[in-house]
Amino acid sequence: MARVFCVVNQKGGVGKTTTTVNLAAGLALTGQRVLMVDLDPQGNATMGSGIDKRALALSVYDVLLESASVAEARVRSEKGGYDLLGANRELAGAEVELVGLERRDQRLRGALQAVAGEYDFVLIDCPPSLSLLTLNGLCSAHGVIVPMQCEYFALEGLSDLVNTIKQVHANLNRELQVIGLLRVMFDPRITLQNQVSEQLKAHFGDKVFDTVIPRNVRLAEAPSYGQPGVVFDPSSKGAMAFVAFARELVRRVDSL
Ligand code: ADP
Ligand code: MG
Repeated sequence: MARVFCVVNQKGGVGKTTTTVNLAAGLALTGQRVLMVDLDPQGNATMGSGIDKRALALSVYDVLLESASVAEARVRSEKGGYDLLGANRELAGAEVELVGLERRDQRLRGALQAVAGEYDFVLIDCPPSLSLLTLNGLCSAHGVIVPMQCEYFALEGLSDLVNTIKQVHANLNRELQVIGLLRVMFDPRITLQNQVSEQLKAHFGDKVFDTVIPRNVRLAEAPSYGQPGVVFDPSSKGAMAFVAFARELVRRVDSL
């Protein structure tokens, strides 16, 4: 059965989508069967997987509104080596449309259960908010992966996120746990980043992944070629870090 992980951080531009896309491709490279779910109306994870979001016949929107199954709506990312449940602007409306419906926070969970036997990992790229879309992600997941930049305000937002995860765990999804914090866009030459990194380790201990993702321009260039960075330039430092991270995650999951 698939392990379902959400990539969450309510801040924008912290590296969620880059993490989801490259982890998905990294896991695929190591032989894992992966489904990636794009839960952000911006559709960046969809585009970064080489799928044109404007051309999607069906998307995660249709799945949330229960007008399509995951099996019907998923497409193959040939570049990434994984399946994708894509997203586009239409998803922005789902938030409003779901509010009046029953089980509004459990829609994705129900839909994913039907395909859980076909995958080793399901990775969900969440939008930059703690919204009903993110809640659908958290209710579907066994674990949360939090990418973060080692900057001054990084720790502040983290307590809101940890509280949300605690509430979801207490009230909606007993399986949910924080798998780990991933340091991304890391630049070891910057003293502050090293300090925050040490603070993170002091505070969260082994919940901080050993792998560190460096700031690397190849990772930023890859989406414009419709490819995950690990495929676009496998020998780049960023790509190698994400493949190492995929391996670390598999080890951690095996020991859970
Ligand atoms: P989010 O999904 O949290 O909004 P993104 O993954 O889209 O964040 O990243 C924000 C921006 O930073 C993007 O332009 C992306 O290409 C760039 N980026 C992300 N990770 C790295 C990295 N390790 N090195 C360089 N640029 C990165
Ligand atoms: Mg994103």
